[in-house]
Amino acid sequence: MRCRLCGESAGLRLRCVDCRRLWTIWQSHRGEGMPRLLREFAEAGVAPEQIERFLDAEPRRGQGTVRDHIAADMANQLLGALGQRPSQNPGKTKKLREIGAWRNYDQRPEE
Ligand SMILES: [Zn+2]
Repeated sequence: MRCRLCGESAGLRLRCVDCRRLWTIWQSHRGEGMPRLLREFAEAGVAPEQIERFLDAEPRRGQGTVRDHIAADMANQLLGALGQRPSQNPGKTKKLREIGAWRNYDQRPEE
């Protein structure tokens, strides 16, 4: 079978060895932020390209990539610290990223 996350060969499993390792690390460090996670990933001895593929994979199709999940977790923590109800989810983060609205705010529309 192909790994559901990175597309590499995964034997009889749904995910390959590397993705399973990264997944476990991600789950045990959820909410600790991207820099911390990247450090943990690197220390696990997984190749940088593999880490990138993992971050860009969608655990559930259309529901946002792993990177979106991490960003949503961070946004929710921030909102929580400000006393707001968490309202960010990976799907929303994905939409924002795809629209790219924040990037083009200060630019004139193309003519
Ligand atoms: Zn994989």
